[in-house]
Amino acid sequence: MDVVVIGAGPAGLIAALRAAELGARTVLVTRGAVGGMAANDGPIPVRTLAQAARLLRESRQLGRFGITVSEPILDYPRLLARTCEVVHEVCEHSTRREHLENLGVTIHEQSGTARFVDPHTVETESGLRLQADKIILCAGGTSRRLSIPGFEWTATHSDAWGLPAVPPSMLVVGAGATGVQVASVFQTFGSRVQLFQAGPRILPTEDEDVSAAVAAAFRESGMVVRENFGTIESFEKMPSGVRIVFSKDGVRDTAEAVLVVVAVGWVADTAGLNLSAAGVETDPRGYVRVDTYLQTSAPNVFAAGDITGRLMLVPQAIHDGFVAATNSVQGLTTPLWDQVSPVGSFTEPEYAQVGLTEAKAREKHDVVVAVIRFDETARTIIDGRTTGFCKLIADRATGTILGCHVVGERAVEIVQVVAIAIAAGLRVDNMAKVPLSFPTYAGILGRAAYRAAQQIYPEFSGRMY
Ligand SMILES: Cc1cc2nc3c(=O)[nH]c(=O)nc-3n(C[C@H](O)[C@H](O)[C@H](O)COP(=O)(O)OP(=O)(O)OC[C@H]3O[C@@H](n4cnc5c(N)ncnc54)[C@H](O)[C@@H]3O)c2cc1C
Repeated sequence: MDVVVIGAGPAGLIAALRAAELGARTVLVTRGAVGGMAANDGPIPVRTLAQAARLLRESRQLGRFGITVSEPILDYPRLLARTCEVVHEVCEHSTRREHLENLGVTIHEQSGTARFVDPHTVETESGLRLQADKIILCAGGTSRRLSIPGFEWTATHSDAWGLPAVPPSMLVVGAGATGVQVASVFQTFGSRVQLFQAGPRILPTEDEDVSAAVAAAFRESGMVVRENFGTIESFEKMPSGVRIVFSKDGVRDTAEAVLVVVAVGWVADTAGLNLSAAGVETDPRGYVRVDTYLQTSAPNVFAAGDITGRLMLVPQAIHDGFVAATNSVQGLTTPLWDQVSPVGSFTEPEYAQVGLTEAKAREKHDVVVAVIRFDETARTIIDGRTTGFCKLIADRATGTILGCHVVGERAVEIVQVVAIAIAAGLRVDNMAKVPLSFPTYAGILGRAAYRAAQQIYPEFSGRMY
């Protein structure tokens, strides 16, 4: 065999496709189902639950539009069944498997954990023994566990999706992308949610204004948001749930909920791989160490996706899979290239970003910042979705767009437009001249661009918006 790919998430699927397209005899082997975490336990199920939360919220608006219905009731087991249907439908409609099979890729699903025997040989729990010139590791990641007494009483985001009913109360530890999505969805479903963040603000990698606006909206919805909560000492099993014991400045405190979900990071899923047998090194954070060609410390082994610990998102995993497979088959020809990476989450309110935060932009640029509030635009008022803002950041010297941060309805979709603008090297004055449709959510970008351009270019001094 020329290439064995381990793991069939987005990175592995694309790596196998690319290797086969380049003529390599390719085997794809994965522990569970094809699709990986992305299809089975991450974005697709999360988005389905977030859609249910959105429908619940929207149904509560019906009265404002003169539509009378009775109070909606969530049938959680039915929703979980729908989530499984969606996962199944997405997999069925994906053309990837057919494409792989047409290219002659051998797929081994449900093979259990694969492990290295030597740099060219892997064995699986199901008894397969595979040998190849090149091996591409696409084994993804897993929730970080904490070495804290009683940690076994806590749950992960995956456990939360599997519950038979919505828990009356939930405590979420960790307010990164996964933690805030779990907290937001279950808050809408009726749990009393407490969100605990050790650092000074939730969503620490977002623009500070985004963290503040999302925290304010969460609190407004009744969620308890505790930033800077201190250090966890232990978790304890209680008759009606789990208690977290924590301390701050020498003062001990506790909080309790029926379910405690810990979402404090994502680590490489290397435990079962026996990397040392292949001479594959990890970095100090435990991710597989790769160079810009995604080659590991073992020359015949490449790695792609979450296992490398860079930006852990589906588009990046796909990019990695392509690059790793190209280099493993053709030699070291294709380094990773810079990408504009929009990021966002389907919380209530949604938030999203692309490019630099305002603080990061100010470190290296003289910037102009334009902020348009959601309650200033027609479409958000029409839809009754006036919470939020759009912040556009541009370089004063060149007019190029450095970043965009949006909180509010369709934030994730809005920043896609800016991602294209940044990738195309568009200046704010160019963007301001694009007549975006009215009344739309993306239309807010025209106004933000116009306000930014006014601060840079004299010809924009008139007041169009
Ligand atoms: C709750 C949640 C929500 C998310 N939402 C988004 C989102 O909205 N948008 C977005 O872009 N990203 C999102 N992500 C991140 C995204 O899912 C990951 O970045 C992406 O799945 C990474 O792809 P991958 O191919 O590297 O790994 P994975 O998708 O994790 O696939 C790896 C596969 O390898 C298998 N495997 C592991 N070890 C072995 C082994 N030793 N032998 C055989 N098989 C093995 C695993 O079982 C798995 O099937 C989310 C993640 C989570 C947890």
